[in-house]
Amino acid sequence: MNNHHASKSKKFLDLIFPNKCLGCQKINQIICEPCLQNIPVFSRMDPYSNDQKLFSLRLAEARKGEGKSRHILNKNKYLNGLIVASDWTNPLLKNLIYNFKYNFVNEIGQILGNFLVRSLSPLSTSLKIKSALVIPIPLHPLRLRWRGFNQAEILANVIGKNFNWPIIDNLIIRKKNTHPQMTIDNIPNRYDNVSGIFSLKTISEYELSNLSKRTIFLVDDVCTTEATLQESAYCLRSKIQNCTIYGLVVARA
Ligand SMILES: [Zn+2]
Repeated sequence: MNNHHASKSKKFLDLIFPNKCLGCQKINQIICEPCLQNIPVFSRMDPYSNDQKLFSLRLAEARKGEGKSRHILNKNKYLNGLIVASDWTNPLLKNLIYNFKYNFVNEIGQILGNFLVRSLSPLSTSLKIKSALVIPIPLHPLRLRWRGFNQAEILANVIGKNFNWPIIDNLIIRKKNTHPQMTIDNIPNRYDNVSGIFSLKTISEYELSNLSKRTIFLVDDVCTTEATLQESAYCLRSKIQNCTIYGLVVARA
């Protein structure tokens, strides 16, 4: 993380960002305890495999033979499941995510990271986790320089610290600086937008074998169609044998 840039942004934000609760504006905290309690946190695997709308769109595209993304033609999922901690339709949550991501309010990372921890904790026994690893979805180096931090990395650090799981933040490399998924209007185009954007760092066979048979949590702040998560999972599976991969996000937009 570029600390110099981050601290510069922080000083700048202290001037423009009011230190009032984003929910009630009453207390001099980013969010007060009662407002925090009003944000729901779920502990469940999102039933993405039952996402009929997404599935039928992919199938229709595959039949037409359009779309360069292999995901549209390949019905297999690269993720074993997706855990969505909270609800995007909650205005306060949306506000927190927005201020974390676009106003660079770093402290919100801890709050959102705790949502992920609270969501995952009750699931951690039923998931049969085997020597877990946490991997944040990487930003392209250019966007990282602009933002000063990778929001997914901050969230991954909160999870790693809480569960005492190693965080691997340099294994997946983002080769292309793509348009943000939310600016792209339809699902097949979102899959195309991220197709082939990741690669894996070159590591030894020994290191690769060390990563096999593990449970990997791919962490991001928000997902839309899962395209970015599926693409990263695809990239991991191309080299790492027999891993279980779960997506873990704060909200699905
Ligand atoms: Zn409040």
